[in-house]
Amino acid sequence: MKQTDIAIIGAGPVGLFMVFEAGMLGYKCTLLDSLDQIGGQLTELYPEKPIYDIPGYPSILAKDIVEQLRLQAEPFKPGYMLGHEVEEVERQEDGSFNITAGEHELNAKVIVIAGGAGVFTPRKPPIANLEQYEKKSVFYSVKNKEQFADKTLVIAGGGDSAADWAVELAPKAKHVHVVHRRASFRAADETVRQMEELQASGKITIHAPSQLGDIRGENGMLNQVILKDLDKNETAVDADYLLCFYGLAPSLGKISNWGLNTTSKKVIVQADTMATNVDGILGIGDITEYPGKLDLILTGFAESAIAAKTAQGIIEPEKKFKLIYTTSQGLPESESA
Ligand SMILES: Cc1cc2nc3c(=O)[nH]c(=O)nc-3n(C[C@H](O)[C@H](O)[C@H](O)COP(=O)(O)OP(=O)(O)OC[C@H]3O[C@@H](n4cnc5c(N)ncnc54)[C@H](O)[C@@H]3O)c2cc1C
Repeated sequence: MKQTDIAIIGAGPVGLFMVFEAGMLGYKCTLLDSLDQIGGQLTELYPEKPIYDIPGYPSILAKDIVEQLRLQAEPFKPGYMLGHEVEEVERQEDGSFNITAGEHELNAKVIVIAGGAGVFTPRKPPIANLEQYEKKSVFYSVKNKEQFADKTLVIAGGGDSAADWAVELAPKAKHVHVVHRRASFRAADETVRQMEELQASGKITIHAPSQLGDIRGENGMLNQVILKDLDKNETAVDADYLLCFYGLAPSLGKISNWGLNTTSKKVIVQADTMATNVDGILGIGDITEYPGKLDLILTGFAESAIAAKTAQGIIEPEKKFKLIYTTSQGLPESESA
């Protein structure tokens, strides 16, 4: 079984930065994630969107901040165990934990849960043969927007993701149909206004209220999407791709079996230590709940520094914590995880 000082469950932005903060105190980390790529929501949901509230970057694409975080973690040589949900955590006699995630097994002195919105499960429309088209012409996130250039797209949903992508993709796409089951959109007013402007210029057609009825195509590639209005009248629109943004069904998954105090979606921690109710298990990032919690990346970064301090108190209780300026200390010698 592989060993590490700190097992970080979740390789989103906050988990990645935890590697740095723990590394500065001399601890080795291994990141575990159910996805087969790092970056959490940023990679999975909005890699090509600019983020404006990362300190020091007036604007940076989500995928680029993930790459910067990966580079920042690199001197500390983190281990990566990707592609499997962490299912079991078992306390050992020496206080450490054995962690099982599919084929991966790991022993760690401390666990830091950075599980964000939980294991990603996009909400899907109730269309019978949907899975034949998934990852070919039906998507729940945009990984490569170039793929949609000069194509006809149907974008389903009424929230920010649907409206943002409609506005972003319409200028390059051949045409975008936006389908929403209500007449009014939940998305930001400004984005809805831009969508309506694009409709006026002929780039977008808004079908609202309307719903997805069926999809037609061959070998996983769409050629038509059938829309149904409130009176169940059907309209067939030609389409190359269907993008569904019905949100994620957030769930703690197996984390809720580990004896932690939780709400339905979050792990309760103490804001001054990031400790959960279970000794040796800490929580950081979007998955945590405490009074005043803000689900922002920058909040999670600060929580990583606090969690690293708490982890030191668990791993080396005799050692006095000393706040480190990176400018004074530089980066420690890197060794393998
Ligand atoms: C469209 C959109 C735009 C956003 N824009 C901004 C913005 O401008 N600024 C901002 O600050 N925030 C923004 N956010 C929020 C931001 O993405 C989150 O605050 C951030 O992703 C939280 O990071 P995290 O590392 O805590 O969790 P996540 O990014 O959710 O990563 C958690 C990871 O944990 C993994 N995981 C969970 N449970 C398990 C398990 N049991 N086993 C293995 N792996 C597990 C998941 O697969 C996931 O990869 C936006 C969110 C969305 C959806």
